Amino acid sequence: MTLSFDLTTDSARDALRARSAQPEKQSLIGLTRIELAETLVASGAVPERQAKMRAQQLWHWMYVRGVSDFAGMFNISKDLRAELNKHFTVARPEIVEEQISADGTRKWLFRFPPRGAGRPVEIETVYIPEEGRGTLCISSQVGCTLTCSFCHTGTQKLVRNLTAEEILAQLLTARDRLGDFPDRDTPDGAIVPAEGRKVSNIVMMGMGEPLYNFEAVKKALLIASDGDGLSLSKRRITLSTSGVVPEIFRTGEEIGVMLAISLHATNDDLRDLLVPINKKYPLKELIAACRAYPGLSNAKRITFEYVMLKDVNDSIEDAKGLIKLLKGIPAKINLIPFNPWPGTNYQCSDWETIEKFADYINNAGYASPIRTPRGRDILAACGQLKSDSERMRKVDRLALEAMMIAGHGEA
Ligand code: SAH
Ligand code: SF4
Repeated sequence: MTLSFDLTTDSARDALRARSAQPEKQSLIGLTRIELAETLVASGAVPERQAKMRAQQLWHWMYVRGVSDFAGMFNISKDLRAELNKHFTVARPEIVEEQISADGTRKWLFRFPPRGAGRPVEIETVYIPEEGRGTLCISSQVGCTLTCSFCHTGTQKLVRNLTAEEILAQLLTARDRLGDFPDRDTPDGAIVPAEGRKVSNIVMMGMGEPLYNFEAVKKALLIASDGDGLSLSKRRITLSTSGVVPEIFRTGEEIGVMLAISLHATNDDLRDLLVPINKKYPLKELIAACRAYPGLSNAKRITFEYVMLKDVNDSIEDAKGLIKLLKGIPAKINLIPFNPWPGTNYQCSDWETIEKFADYINNAGYASPIRTPRGRDILAACGQLKSDSERMRKVDRLALEAMMIAGHGEA
C-alpha cells in the first residue's frame, strides 16, 4: 500500500487553531446528566425547576447534533444562550495538526490546557476507515505510569490523566472533522465507510492505561454509549488494558464495553519483562479475571493482543502456549506487528514467522488474526522497516498503527 500525506496547509492549520476552547470557562462536555443539571443550577443561569429539562436540551445539542457553540442551540432563548456562554463552553480543543493518508487514515494532534500539569499537553487520536466501519483510537492519559518494554509511551512519564471531557473531545472533534453529525457534510474526498456512521467504533488504545484513569474513562464511555446522545453501541467500544486485574470486573459491570487484554507473553517470566504490571498481577490472576468478565460469551469475546517480537515471543512453542492459556475462554487473538521506535532493542518478527504463528492459531480454531490484503501490505512494510535501522517513516508508522486499531468490536 502506498501512503502519502496531505498535511493541512498553514492557513488551514491557523483556522483550526482559532477554534480552540476557552480554558477559563468550565466545559459542559463530560458531565453526567445529573452533574450537568446541578452545574447549570449552581451557576444561577437556570432555575432549579427547569434544570432537568435544560440538561436534556443541552445533552441533545452537545451529543446528538454535535454543536460546539451555544449560538447554534436554536430552541434555547437568546438570553439563556448568552447567559450560558458567560459561564460555560462546549467548544472543541485546539487541533495542532491533522494528517490524512491516502487510504483515509487520519491522525490528529490535540492540545489541552495544563490542568495543573505545568504546561499544555498534547495527545494523538487516530481514525481508521474500513469497509463497514470507522474506528477511532482514543487516548486516556498523557504518558503512562507503566513501563512495557516494547512500548514507546512506556518510556514517557505520566504527565496527567485526561478528564472525561478530554476523552470525549477526541470523539466529538473527530466526528466534526469527518462530517459525522446530522446536517454536516463529509469533507470532499474523505475516505469513510460507504454506509452508516463515519465513526462507528472506538478503541481505548491510544496513550495511557485506561484502567488507571477509571472514573474519567467510565464517565466518557457511558456518555459515548448513551442512547439519547452519542449512542455508540457498547459492543463497538473496546477498552484495552495491560492487565489491571482489580478493575477488570468493574469494567464489565459498570461500563459494559468489550475488553481487550495486552497479553504479549504466555509465561510469567517473559511477561514480567514485557509487561511489568505482570509482577503485580501475574497471568494466573489475569486469566481468572478474564474468565469472570461480566457478559462473556461466544458472542462477546475478549480480544487478546499479542505483539510479534522477533525471537522473543514468536515461536511455535509460544503459539502453543497461547492456545493452552486461553483454553475455554471465549477469545479473539489479535496479532500485532511490532511497531519499532528509535532506541528500542526489539524488532518486528519476520513476515514468514508471523504467518506461521497465525496459521497455528487459525488451525486451533481462532478466527483469522491477520486481516485483509490491507493488513498484509502493512505487515510486508513492517518487514522492510527493520533494515531501515529502526527509523520509521511517518507514513509507515501511521499504517502500522492503523493495523493495530482495525478490526475491534462489532462491524
Ligand atoms: N495501555 C493500554 C492501552 C494502550 S496500548 C494497554 O496496554 O493495553 C494499545 C496496544 O498497543 C496494547 O496492546 C499495547 O501493548 C500495544 N503496543 C504498544 N506499543 C506497541 C508497539 N511499539 N508495537 C505494537 N504494539 C504496541
Ligand atoms: Fe504502553 Fe499500554 Fe504498557 Fe502503558 S500500559 S506502557 S500504554 S503498552
